[in-house]
Parts: sequence; structure tokens; C-alpha cells
Amino acid sequence: MGAAHYVFPMAKVILENVRKVFPGDVEAVKDFSLDIETGEFIVLVGPSGCGKSTTLRMIAGLEEISSGKISIGDRVVNDLPPKDRDIAMVFQNYALYPHMSVFDNMAFSLKMRKMPKADIQKRVNEAAEMLDIEELLKRRPKELSGGQRQRVAVGRAIVRQPAAFLFDEPLSNLDAKLRVQMRVEISRLHHNLDTTMIYVTHDQVEAMTMGDRIVVMKDGIIEQVAPPEELYDNPATKFVASFIGTPPMNFIDGKITGENGTLNFDEGTFSLPLPEMFMSELEPYRNKRITFGIRPEDIGSERAALEKNAVQIRSTVDVVEPMGSETILYVRTDNNSFISRVDPHKTCKAGDCIELAVNLPKAHFFDADTDKLIV
Ligand code: ATP
Repeated sequence: MGAAHYVFPMAKVILENVRKVFPGDVEAVKDFSLDIETGEFIVLVGPSGCGKSTTLRMIAGLEEISSGKISIGDRVVNDLPPKDRDIAMVFQNYALYPHMSVFDNMAFSLKMRKMPKADIQKRVNEAAEMLDIEELLKRRPKELSGGQRQRVAVGRAIVRQPAAFLFDEPLSNLDAKLRVQMRVEISRLHHNLDTTMIYVTHDQVEAMTMGDRIVVMKDGIIEQVAPPEELYDNPATKFVASFIGTPPMNFIDGKITGENGTLNFDEGTFSLPLPEMFMSELEPYRNKRITFGIRPEDIGSERAALEKNAVQIRSTVDVVEPMGSETILYVRTDNNSFISRVDPHKTCKAGDCIELAVNLPKAHFFDADTDKLIV
């Protein structure tokens, strides 16, 4: 996708206490507030049914809101029909007109606006060039591959020069390799066009690689809004910690114990002496239940072993998965099992007994009742 000569309107998108209740009292979105900056790439991510598509459809005007306020640019759009909202949406199923050529599919909205023919030609050609589909302009959608169809759908959005692009799982129908390629292309397009994009996906890798900020949703509420690195390093809840990152974070239930100014995390069969850095936050949890979280790269890896304050847990290897650039180990202790991400040259096999180094300063602790991050 080449450089753009397009000029897009600058628009913030603001949602204030937006709620959606479907008939039958299904509260799909409970209380959604978010300021999306001009030019920002925002990703809404979460498991099936969390309300992400409904939120996007409310921004598009395809779904009425039950209460709250949505603004695009400096206009409140609550009561505006989709065509007057100055947005363009790209759907998972492409939604192309099957009887029209690629050119006509891309030109359609401009013809409806009665734009002069020469201007339409220029805009479509420019978008086609950006998306590398100039050769396909005469074809019908059925003569295209899935990836090409998705480019046409994106092109159709670009020619409208909207204030914001809305994407609803646009890559879900593509095979894994093409998905990665289109992911990079949409990111590049965002960089070139510098316009606001709101993108819905259930795929946390897509979210992490594309978003300036990511909105993690669960059961109709926002769990956390943060840039990718912050979400990974400082997940606000156990849900975010488990949803972001593959393989996922390891969780162990246990208790905080200790006397005379020391604190331990006691799992039942082993006890980890906790470094000074956790003292003040964890002191109130002494003798209480708590959930300990550790990322796979911070347990069992060489990096973990080299860290000051690392401790060892004795464990048995269940499964070894060599991935080429890294190896994933599934290991178990008496009460728990862990996933560990180690260097590919580490040689061990199923059944081996190993000492797992735990990089304790990288541990996360969650309140066992609320699942909120303590430290
Ligand atoms: P998915 O990834 O499966 O598309 P999602 O996170 O996008 O999920 P939504 O499609 O927004 O979730 O749905 C949120 C909730 O609202 C779900 O419980 C769903 O069943 C419900 N829902 C969605 N549309 C309607 C509707 N038209 N009528 C009633 N309930 C609906």
C-alpha cells in the first residue's frame, strides 16, 4: 500500500456512558466511556459475546444506543443515520455488490453523492494504487481471492475519505498467512492515512500488533484501556492478564504468609520468599488468599534463572513443544501445572525432573476475591 494523497477530516470519537440493552433484557454493553483521539488506532478486543461488535455498530449507527452519548468530530451523532456520520465500515464478509465490477464497487458511494466522473476516477485509481489492486478493477468479486476482496472492501472505505474507519473482524475469513499480511497492510495504511481507525477483533495478537491503544472488554464492560506494552506488563485484572499474551500467564492460588518483616507466597507444597519490593502492597494480605501470576518467559527460562531474586521450584516436564525460535514446556509440580517459554537450545524431554527458576520481581499478584491486580 503506497503513500496517500488523500486528506481525511480530523475527528475525535467520544463515547460517554454508552449502554445497549437488546429486547429480552440482554445488556450487551453496560457503561462504555472512551475518548478516541484523532488519528488513533483503537482496537476493541474480548471473547465472543463481550459486546465489542455492538459497540462498533452503535458508533456506525447500525444499532441504536439505549442511553449515553456518541460524538464524531464535534457532532453528537446519537440520532444521525449511518450515512450522515462520516464513517466507513469494513465488514468480515466484505459485503461487496456481486454484480458490480471492483471499480463500480469502489465508486458506488461517490456516484450516490453525485461526484463528477473525473473525480471519482481519480479517487478510485488512487485507492486502488494504494492497495495494489489496479489490475483487478474490471473484475467481479467472485473472480477475486478472499484477500483481494478484503482489499476492495478497504478501498471502498478509503475513497469515501471518512472521518473514521470502523473495522469489524475484517481478517477473520482469511487464512493465517494472509491474515498476517493484511494485518501489516492495514497498519501501514493507518500510518499513511493518519486517520482514526476503530477495529474489532477477538484475536489478541491482532490487537497487540495493530492498536495504539487496546480496549479489553468482558461481559459488556471495559476491563482496561492501554497501549499494548502496558497491557502486557501491567494488566489491571486477572482476566486481562489471561487474555493478553500467548502462551497465557500462569496463575497459582495460594496464601501470603511470613513473620518478622518477611512475606512468602505459600502454595501448599512450596513457599516462595517475596522480595522487598512487594512488601507494602502485600502486607495487608498476610494470611489471606491471593493469586500469583507469572508469564511463561519468567519461569523456567535462562533469563529467569539469571535474575537476582530468582527462586527455584522442583517440577516434572509433561510435554515439550519445540517452536523453532523458542521451546514451550508444559511442566507440573505436586499441585499445579505451568507453561514455560525457554530458549530453543535447552534440552529436556517429557518425564525429566527440572528446577524451574521463577523470576519473582516479574510476578503479579491478584486479589482472589475481586481478581484485580494488587501489584
Ligand atoms: P462476537 O465476537 O461473537 O461477535 P461480540 O463481542 O462482538 O461477540 P456482540 O455481538 O456485541 O458480541 O454481542 C454482545 C451480546 O449481545 C451477546 O450476548 C449477544 O448475544 C447479544 N446480542 C447481540 N445482538 C443482539 C440482538 N440483535 N438481539 C439480542 N441480543 C443480541
